[in-house]
Amino acid sequence: MIGDIMSISRLRMGTDGEGVSTLITLHGCPLSCKYCINDYCHDEFCERSAYTPEKLVEVLKKDDIYFKMSGGGIVFGGGEPLLQSEFIAEVFRIADSKWKKRIETSLNVPWENIEPLLPLTDEWIIDIKDIDEGIYRKYTGCSNAVVKENLLKMKEHIPAENMKIRVPYIPDYNTEKNVEKSVKWVRNALGIEAEQFGYFVTEKKQ
Ligand code: SF4
Repeated sequence: MIGDIMSISRLRMGTDGEGVSTLITLHGCPLSCKYCINDYCHDEFCERSAYTPEKLVEVLKKDDIYFKMSGGGIVFGGGEPLLQSEFIAEVFRIADSKWKKRIETSLNVPWENIEPLLPLTDEWIIDIKDIDEGIYRKYTGCSNAVVKENLLKMKEHIPAENMKIRVPYIPDYNTEKNVEKSVKWVRNALGIEAEQFGYFVTEKKQ
């Protein structure tokens, strides 16, 4: 089994949950966000590396002591990491049990990509964009029906404290009122207080 990896970023703090973390960004994403943070994840020819789970864990071991002392660990992002969920599951299975295992995702993938990872993942960091179908579609080019379904299913399987939900203010696409509506939906449907934040916009795709 091979992971299609764009980058491995070590010794991160304060950006991917508690403690020191190593962020592994995986190639590919089903969405086309207008302010994509990693637009090269859509580029078939961008520079990247092939790793087996064992080879990746060897790299991650370099920071073992930092992970354990800080309560940190490994986080998969992207792109949409859940497009390579089997690879992630194998890495989580063979990684040190004391490392925190986290996934940063938009959750816009089939449930089959999520379910096997539920017992293996300590924290899900989920950027839901906007809960309004029209705004979501305008911003990402896709429907968010699957995202809502996945959120509701996850609530039935894992504790709410394992789901960190983020709702962005997206310049030109939603308003503070829209953000409030999304936060309210998350509160009512999932019993979770979502974190609000603003996208830092550098460039908008046409
Ligand atoms: S979900 Fe992330 S990687 Fe995918 S298009 Fe949106 S910003 Fe880019």
